[in-house]
Order: sequence, then structure tokens, then C-alpha cells
Amino acid sequence: MTRIAFIGLGNMGGGMAANQAKAQHQVAAFDLSEAAVARAVEHGCRAAGSVAEAVKDAEVVITMLPAGAHVRAVYGDHVLPHAPKSALLIDCSTIDVESARAVAKQAAEAGFRFADAPVSGGTAAADAGTLAFMVGCEAADFAVVEAALQPMARVVIHAGSSGAGQAAKICNNMLLGISMLGTCEAFALAEKLGLEADRFFEIASKSSGQCWSITSYCPVPGPVPAAPSNRGYAGGFATAMMLKDLKLAQDAAAKAGAATPLGAQAEALYALFERLGHGGKDFSAVIQMLRGQLDA
Ligand code: NAD
Repeated sequence: MTRIAFIGLGNMGGGMAANQAKAQHQVAAFDLSEAAVARAVEHGCRAAGSVAEAVKDAEVVITMLPAGAHVRAVYGDHVLPHAPKSALLIDCSTIDVESARAVAKQAAEAGFRFADAPVSGGTAAADAGTLAFMVGCEAADFAVVEAALQPMARVVIHAGSSGAGQAAKICNNMLLGISMLGTCEAFALAEKLGLEADRFFEIASKSSGQCWSITSYCPVPGPVPAAPSNRGYAGGFATAMMLKDLKLAQDAAAKAGAATPLGAQAEALYALFERLGHGGKDFSAVIQMLRGQLDA
């Protein structure tokens, strides 16, 4: 049994903390939202009144926060001054590479082991304990990080040193955003050319156009029953979240001097879709805009 401090019990963190408690670990849970803490308590966690209280005797600290600014503040102001130096620190939020590296450096200077470990898989995977983790940390620390993440994971992959987990996450999601737009354009054109969607699905899924956006997350209803397209694009991976990740990718590309013209175009299209009022819909709903079904 491990003493875990879990900070950030939102859509993702709530299910993740519950899975740590289910694995018989002692979880001290904190969130700015009292309702989120109350839900964690219902799932076997102990309520902590502050970050400092949650981490004071922790062996592992896990954070699942919205963005880089939150992560910098929570570690800089609360975790590093109050956690025991022996605690293993793991941030699972999706944040900018620069913030991840800055927090890792600050943690190392204070004598802590720190890993960035963003996840792939949405709230369903968080609840089921089947997330994919991509980890940036010292090679020597990976085995303990992997063991700590195991109750929440389907797979844990070492991406490289500090910040490599965040780099992998934003590159993967940039590719996903681009491939979904390509898939939507292809289905929208197929419709205009009089091709039935399920015929095109069968052909593309067995041809060189095959990709995850077609075979696992088809943006038209029917061929992939579990895809959000079958339930009015509710749930799934929100357009606003995809846009956040595409912005992180563009920001990182600008700083690194990398050419990402398709990533930039994907960001612009998702930003337009959000401005039209669809930030809450699953990102595959962008097919509606490409078909011209929405008011421009
Ligand atoms: P969320 O907004 O539901 O949860 C974030 C939680 O952090 C909130 O409950 C908020 O109250 C809490 N919080 C903010 N500042 C805090 C502080 N100073 N101290 C304590 N708690 C604080 O967001 P989410 O959907 O759970 O996403 C969390 C992270 O996971 C994000 O970085 C997101 O990009 C990433 N992510 C989300 C998904 C998804 O499908 N939702 C998938 C993969 C990755």
C-alpha cells in the first residue's frame, strides 16, 4: 500500500484517483472544487484540506490539472515546499513542454524525482483504468514511475528525459487533429460525389487511406458504433481540448523552429469551429462545418 497525494480531481483526475484507491492505496485527495473532493471520497479517497496537507507524508504525488500555469503554481508554491524529498512527483496534465521542463528542473534542484506523464484516452479510459501514459523522466526513475501509474494504465511508455512525455503527447494529438480533418474532408467529398458513406468506409479502411480516425473513430455514424458520431457528437474528445493541444503544438513548433503548416491549418479550422459555438462537441463533429451544414 502506497500513500498517494492526488491533486486535481476533475473529469480525468476523479476516475484516476478512484482507481488508485481501488488498488488499495491510501489516497489523500485535493481539488479547489469541494464537489470534486466529495466525489473522490465516495470512491475511497481521503479528503485533504489543501495541497500542503495532501502531500505532507506522501510517497507519490500525482497531479491532473488544466494547464501549465496551474502546474507551475501547484508545484512551486505548494508541493515542493511541503512534500517529503523522498516523494516521487508525477504530473499527468497535458501542458507545454517548457513548463514541464521548468518544473522538472525546479523539482530536481529541490532534491525530488519528477516525471511528466500525460495521457492518451479520454474520461472513459480514466474511469476504466486503461489510459496510455507517455513518460518523460530520468531512465533510472522509469520503473518506479511505471509501477505508480499501473492502476490507471493500459500501457506506460518511456518517451525520454524531462518534457519528452509532453512532446510525444502534442505531436500525437497534432497528427490526430490533421488526420481527422483529412478523414472528414474525404467523407464530405465522397458524399458530394454520390458515394455511400459505408461503401467508402469499407474501401478506405482496407486501402492506403486507412487510419485511426477512420477505423476507430469514424466521423460519420454507422460504421464504427462506439464513435461519438453515433450519439450526436456528444462526449468523446471535445473540440476545445483538441484546440488546446493544437495550440500547444504550434507554440512548441514556433519555439523549436519546426515547419508544421498542416498543424497550423488544423488549429485554424478547429478555432473557427469553436468560434461557431461548437467547442463542447466531439472533435469529429468538424465534418459538419466541412459539409457546410453550419452557419459560417
Ligand atoms: P478538468 O477541468 O475537468 O479538471 C481539472 C481540475 O483541476 C478541476 O477539478 C480544477 O478544480 C482542478 N484545479 C485547478 N487548479 C487547481 C489547484 N490549484 N489546486 C487543486 N485543484 C485545481 O480537466 P480534465 O478534463 O480532468 O483534464 C485535466 C488534464 O488532462 C488537462 O491538462 C487535459 O488537457 C488533460 N486531458 C484531458 C482529457 C479529456 O478527455 N478530458 C484527455 C487527455 C488529457
